[in-house]
Amino acid sequence: MSKPTGDAPGMVIVGAGQAGVQAAEALRAGGYEGSVTLLGDEPYGPYHRPPLSKAWLAGEMDAAQLMMRAPDMLARKNIDLRTRVSVASIDRPQKLLHLKNGSVLPYDGLVLATGSTPRSLNIPGADTMGVLALRSRDDANAISDRMTMCAEQSRPVVVIGGGFIGLEVAATARQKDLLVTVLESAPRLLGRVLSPSLSDWYARLHTGHGVTLMLNTQCIAIEHDEQGVTGVRLSDGSLLPAGLVVVGVGVLANDAMARKAGLPCDRGIIVDACGRTDDPFIVAAGDCTARRLSDGSLLRLESVQNATEQGKSAASALLGQERPFTATPWFWSDQFDKKLQMAGLSMGADHWAVRGDMDAGTGFSVYHFAGDRLIAVDSINSAREHLQARKLLDAGVSPTVAQATDTGFDLASLLKKA
Ligand code: FAD
Repeated sequence: MSKPTGDAPGMVIVGAGQAGVQAAEALRAGGYEGSVTLLGDEPYGPYHRPPLSKAWLAGEMDAAQLMMRAPDMLARKNIDLRTRVSVASIDRPQKLLHLKNGSVLPYDGLVLATGSTPRSLNIPGADTMGVLALRSRDDANAISDRMTMCAEQSRPVVVIGGGFIGLEVAATARQKDLLVTVLESAPRLLGRVLSPSLSDWYARLHTGHGVTLMLNTQCIAIEHDEQGVTGVRLSDGSLLPAGLVVVGVGVLANDAMARKAGLPCDRGIIVDACGRTDDPFIVAAGDCTARRLSDGSLLRLESVQNATEQGKSAASALLGQERPFTATPWFWSDQFDKKLQMAGLSMGADHWAVRGDMDAGTGFSVYHFAGDRLIAVDSINSAREHLQARKLLDAGVSPTVAQATDTGFDLASLLKKA
């Protein structure tokens, strides 16, 4: 076994993504003066992932805009960013990291911010050339290259999975004038998060832009020749021709290393609201975590807000400061010219109120209720209403369905009374 490299132990962060960068900067902002080392296994410094399915894939953004921090910004904060470094395992008793290159790195405090990995399809041919998932900048570039080939050869694109990433890729592909089919095994799009009316609205949005939508549809195999994918075989025996298949069927938390080190995991590294694991010297943040809520249940979120806030909370916890992340969750998605902004968690909603006209082409919102309680609000092209919804949800204030539906009623007045 190699010996430690002589680095003074300090704070080490594994994963140079959204959560890792926030944690590194929060350690400095919190007054930590020891060494801060940010390890990432990708060839690039930290970059924004959301544009990968949107402006970056559309070719509307350059590498400098994709970058999360300018090259010298981390150095100015004395954060030692090391790219192309992959951590293989954690030796908790010795407080050491074993790197895949054979070297060893000691730590005083460790932040695990390893993100997540796209689920793969478990069907024959799933590893064929031209069947691609989207997580990294390299993935996006590979999809973009294959889209160019499809455009040149007039070959269609098939997207498997009608979730956010699949639908964003479909929208971007249509912007490039490609023939696009989206396959979804469930009866509606984004059925786990959206109201039935908003799922239908998204279906109309996509079909209105020329996307072929196939709901309740199972694919059973990928067909190919020596040039890669040629089509997707469906359970009814039919074949959909394709020059590119994008697989967007969810992600799995990168928690294997933590699990191997004996940290409790359950579809994510289990953390409390401050990002603490069971080990007082190890915290975790972002997509790799599952947060224990006060009722004992576990919450997994995959969003920029979650990674940002957990990164800050986790860094504070390593410094002995309490900074729980309990704010209302929010998320966004851009498809065609529509921006969806979601506030709250809609699981358990039993009825919905629509504020505004869904078909007028202007902004509107869908309010999710569980009983009398407002639990989430989804706004389309209405940033003002999204911000107000976050305030209502943070304050635990619920309008009635009649108030939510009545655009003449000032929902902000409820906050003044609260
Ligand atoms: P990541 O950003 O994935 O960073 C983790 C890093 O750790 C990766 O670079 C990984 O390679 C590295 N790593 C893993 N294991 C190791 C190891 N052993 N050693 C060293 N490095 C390691 N969220 C939104 O809120 N809105 C959106 O519109 C939105 N759009 C998205 C579009 C796409 C295409 C994708 C992929 C995600 C999108 N998300 C969006 C989700 C959001 O980007 C993620 O939730 C967020 O990036 C999670 O940050 P993270 O730091 O936890 O993980």
